[in-house]
Amino acid sequence: MLSDLTQRYLGQDFSNRKSAAGNVTANMLDQLSKDSYPLCMQNLHQNLRQYHHLKHWGRQQYGLFLKGIGLSLEEALKFWRMEFTRIMDGDKFDKQYAYNIQHNYGKEGKRADYTPLSCIRIITANPPAAGDFHGCPFRHFGVDFLRQRLQSFRLPNDGINEIVDSVKQGHYQLACGRHFEIRNNLDVKFVPQHPNQYFEDSQRVIEGLKPTGGIASAPTESCGITLVPVGKKTAQSTTH
Ligand code: SF4
Repeated sequence: MLSDLTQRYLGQDFSNRKSAAGNVTANMLDQLSKDSYPLCMQNLHQNLRQYHHLKHWGRQQYGLFLKGIGLSLEEALKFWRMEFTRIMDGDKFDKQYAYNIQHNYGKEGKRADYTPLSCIRIITANPPAAGDFHGCPFRHFGVDFLRQRLQSFRLPNDGINEIVDSVKQGHYQLACGRHFEIRNNLDVKFVPQHPNQYFEDSQRVIEGLKPTGGIASAPTESCGITLVPVGKKTAQSTTH
């Protein structure tokens, strides 16, 4: 069932894209994380900056996202090295971690071009254990912790309540989309299907353009939610 769901994302793969942010460099990531990251990637970035380390699935989820927003391999190695070598020497980083980063960019191993993970994949596969920071906050945070995190962004209380209500009904992508709408003061419906799409649309909004993605152009089953085009009533078909 879960492996089937992970294969249902049929949108863009977001690999090797030139970001709307231009040529993304390591020193731009703090600002981009505040302006345009979805909560899943913001959480990974903050914890990486705090602890100078992420476990395997965190490195995969965040590393592939960074590749998708346009961070080059050279800048990715610089970024991860800068953080990890605050708690380990450079030799250890080169031996234990650099290979995996190069692998994600298709420069080692099978030389496959690995694509950034979709929302469905993040929500349904590899749930985080203690000490992990990957996953989807709307799916994997406790409700109280999620509420605290949203309050720290100074979102209005009624907006936070709407987001939490969606989470309680199991509509994680709707909750994330409502966060996007409130954060960007939008009056169009937005439902993310991919963290990189969230990023690109956030950059579009900053540039004064309308978001292009979010709502499926045709009904699409997604983690128990049926996404519908704007203007049609949202179906509530929770299956979990
Ligand atoms: Fe990230 Fe998607 Fe979850 Fe939003 S719904 S936090 S983009 S995984």
